[in-house]
Amino acid sequence: MKSYDEALNIIMDNVVRLGGERTDLESAPGRILAEHVVSDVDMPPFDKAAMDGYACRREDLGEELTVLETLAAGRVPTHAVGPKQCAKIMTGAVVPEGADCVVMVEYTKNPTETTMRFTGENTDDNICPRGEDVRTGDVVLKAGQLIRPQHIAVLASVGCVEPPVACRPRVGIISTGSELVSPSEKPEPSQIRDSNSSQLSAQVIRSGGASVNLGSAGDTEEAIGRAIEEAKSETDMVLLTGGVSMGDFDLVPDILEKKGFDILFAKVAVKPGKPTLFARAGDVVCFGLPGNPVSSYVMFELFVRPLLYGMMGHEWIPATSCATLAETYRRKKTERLSWVPVTLREDGSATPVEYHGPAHSGSLTGADGLIPVPVGVNELAKETNVTVRLI
Ligand code: AMP
Ligand code: MG
Repeated sequence: MKSYDEALNIIMDNVVRLGGERTDLESAPGRILAEHVVSDVDMPPFDKAAMDGYACRREDLGEELTVLETLAAGRVPTHAVGPKQCAKIMTGAVVPEGADCVVMVEYTKNPTETTMRFTGENTDDNICPRGEDVRTGDVVLKAGQLIRPQHIAVLASVGCVEPPVACRPRVGIISTGSELVSPSEKPEPSQIRDSNSSQLSAQVIRSGGASVNLGSAGDTEEAIGRAIEEAKSETDMVLLTGGVSMGDFDLVPDILEKKGFDILFAKVAVKPGKPTLFARAGDVVCFGLPGNPVSSYVMFELFVRPLLYGMMGHEWIPATSCATLAETYRRKKTERLSWVPVTLREDGSATPVEYHGPAHSGSLTGADGLIPVPVGVNELAKETNVTVRLI
């Protein structure tokens, strides 16, 4: 049995990098940049007024100044500002030659229609100098960046309208279990609906992958073998759920080996999710996840998600939040690292959710994150400071 760290290391040693493609700005959020992006302009592209007011020479602030022109954003100045002169200027407009500050309109008066006097005591420059933020040729975003809305703004500002992004990993999802029926069917008394396929598909999409739902296979060598072969030839990663523990019909590990996969580990000291398997055949990686939906969810977050991002060239660091435990958490067995689902409140407290076991998928619906309970620890006392891994 591997520890959490050992398992994660084995997984991240098996990152198979994918190629790149171009996308458009609308489709880019959630994708990973495949190349550095370089600016083709200075930003700001000119000395820019940061306030509405008058552009003038600081040494003339005590004088009555002649207003040469009015500069709206987008207009090119037609006069340089000389001694005892100024230009009325709007935020975002080009500061004319000769001016070294912009006085705020709030601190001025107009003795005549064509003159201005500064009424303040002192002023900032209120000028954003050309190239202050970015110079032409600067790298503005690095390869590996997960694209969020603020990155879209940067891409747009440098004219990168077809950003180069990593191809989405194609992830084949196979649920195994003779008791499973499709979510659209009403289960007979001995059956349950396959909820893992849909949950995993949503997790894959949230992680920037493309899910290929290969449906559910009954617990026979033939059905599971056929699904694995299809997934192996058409996808970059295979996710199987169910059939990996110790039951008579847990056939997945044997079939994977017969289909040419090397099993790199088959158990992890993590709760929930001990019977988790990781395998590889050539460039195709494979996880055998436990059938219980909570275990499958948690194992995906802990192990599958970092690998998916790694395949796209992104080092994923899960978001966390500090909180104080609202009640004492106790457990009997301590040989595994537990991940306990909790609800966060605005007062900074974390409360474990009601949890009946790894089949209780409804337990996660109110959970905001997971807290780790290390190996060897059987109690986290009320008021303990915990780091919550957000889900
Ligand atoms: P297994 O890992 O195959 O032993 O399954 C463990 C438990 O998870 C059993 O109660 C299964 O019925 C349940 N289970 C397995 N696969 C799924 C699935 N795709 N959706 C929901 N529950 C499942
Ligand atoms: Mg099963």
